[in-house]
Amino acid sequence: MSSAPEREDGPEHRPSSATPPLRRAVFVDRDGTLNVDTHYLQGPEKVELHLGVREGVALLRAHGFLVVVVTNQSGISRGFYTREAVEAIHQKIQRLMAEAGTEIDAFYYCPHAPQEGCACRKPGTALFEQAARELHIDLRTSAIIGDRMLDVEAGTRLGLTTVYVPEPGAHLRYPEEFQRAQVEANLVATSFLSGCRRLIERG
Ligand SMILES: [Mg+2]
Ligand SMILES: [Zn+2]
Repeated sequence: MSSAPEREDGPEHRPSSATPPLRRAVFVDRDGTLNVDTHYLQGPEKVELHLGVREGVALLRAHGFLVVVVTNQSGISRGFYTREAVEAIHQKIQRLMAEAGTEIDAFYYCPHAPQEGCACRKPGTALFEQAARELHIDLRTSAIIGDRMLDVEAGTRLGLTTVYVPEPGAHLRYPEEFQRAQVEANLVATSFLSGCRRLIERG
């Protein structure tokens, strides 16, 4: 117990500052999951969060998860609204989160229409992979919550724990639509908050 062990320099012994530890994340869909889906939501004044969403986000963050929004916004490509309008909506969501003492860690959106064949429109996985690189996320221990099958499909492709939460009041697409496509969610919850609680219980 006299002197500190000698350190070797090499790839296995990089200082920790150069390799930040990987974080767990919960990726969340936006329209129909965080906020009421008005179909091509155009402006921040129309943003209405579902009940319990802010509590759910706060709970996830209190348990060490990053909360990262990944959303398809083909209305940009279709000319229904601009990138600036989408970003104003995200700022509004952040203000509403701040009122409840929490926040979204990052927003990623795909601006393309389906026929453009991009890699970033869900169920494509490019935005998740970009977020994982930029925010040092361990996809193997992360999860996704969404109100559509494409959210569950994207999560399945990435090996995430998948949580399907149909939008309150919307038609329940589970399980028929999922069975036809041979897609299965790990958890089906009746609200965003209960989905968050059950994810945390799973450990
Ligand atoms: Mg949605
Ligand atoms: Zn895209």
